[in-house]
Amino acid sequence: MSQVIGRFAPTPSGRMHLGNALSCLIAWLSARSQGGSVILRVEDLDPERSSWAYMRDIEAELHWLGLNWDAGGVDADGHQWCQSRRSEIYTEYFERLREMGLVYPCFCSRAQLHAASAPHRSDGRFIYQGTCRGLSEEEIAKKSKVRLPAWRLQVPDREVSFCDLHYGEYIENLSEECGDFIIRRADGVYAYQLAAALDDGLMGVTEVVRGSDLLSSSPRQIWLHELFGFAPPRYGHIPLLTAADGRRLSKRDGDLDIETLSRRYRPEEVVGMLGHACGLLEEYRPVTAEELIPLFDWGKIPKEDICLPDGFPERLV
Ligand code: GLU
Repeated sequence: MSQVIGRFAPTPSGRMHLGNALSCLIAWLSARSQGGSVILRVEDLDPERSSWAYMRDIEAELHWLGLNWDAGGVDADGHQWCQSRRSEIYTEYFERLREMGLVYPCFCSRAQLHAASAPHRSDGRFIYQGTCRGLSEEEIAKKSKVRLPAWRLQVPDREVSFCDLHYGEYIENLSEECGDFIIRRADGVYAYQLAAALDDGLMGVTEVVRGSDLLSSSPRQIWLHELFGFAPPRYGHIPLLTAADGRRLSKRDGDLDIETLSRRYRPEEVVGMLGHACGLLEEYRPVTAEELIPLFDWGKIPKEDICLPDGFPERLV
C-alpha cells in the first residue's frame, strides 16, 4: 500500500475547542496507526476571520496534546502551507476551469438567492437554480458595471459517490442535491471548496479525516479532484461533539477550549477524556496520544454525535 498522508487543516479564527481537538486526534491516530505522515495546512483563506497569532496558539495546543506533524505549519517554508499565501496557485487552477467552460459569473444578491433557491434535502443548504448560468456577454458586461460577481462552477447532472471510512457509501447527485457552487467570492477570496480540494491534491494528501459537518462537501471536492486530474483522497468523517444540552461546540464555548482546559488538566487527562468520549477507551483513564495508536479502530467510534455528559469535564477526571 502506498504511503498514507493525513492532514490537519484548522481555520485559525479562534482558539481550538474540544471538537477541533477530537478531529485532529482522530486524523492523527488514523494516519499514525497506518505508519503514515501528517501535514499541517493553515486554512486562513478569509483574511477578516483568520490570524496567524491564533494559528501559533493552535500549533502550541497540538504540541501540548502530543499531536505532531511532519510538514507544514504557519512559519514553515516561507508560509507556503498558508492558504492566504497561495492565491496565485488558486488563480492558475481557477483559470483552467474557466478554459474548460465550466465557470461563470453570478450576480445574484443574497435576497435573490434565497428567493430563487430550493432548500437542500437534509442539511438545509440551498440549491442554486442556475439563474446566472446562461447570461449573454452583453448582460454580463451590463451587470458588471453595477456589481462585482462571484464565480460559480457548473456541476454535471451526475452522481458522485464515495465510501466514507466511517459512514460508508455516500452518494450525491451534484445538480439535483447541490447545484452550481461558488469557487471564488465577489471580493476575490477563493472559496473553501476550491482551496481545500486543490491543496489536498497538490500536497499529496491521501486521507482526509474531519468533522461530519463536512461530509456533504466531499462530493464537490471529489468532483474538483477529477477536474484537476488528481486521484481523490479517502475521506473519513467523525461525529461532532455536543455540549450536554445538545448544542454544538463552537469557538465561543470558552469553557471547552484547549487553552482553558490546559490550565486545569494535564494533556494525558484531556486526551483520555477524548479517547473515552469517542469510544477508543472503555473507561476513562489518562493516556498519551501515542498510547492510543494501537487502540485506534473506526469500528469503536459512534456514528451519531457525541454528547458530553452534564458537568463535563469534572465528571470524567
Ligand atoms: N478548515 C476547516 C475547519 O477548521 C476544516 C476543513 C477540512 O478539514 O477540510 O473546520
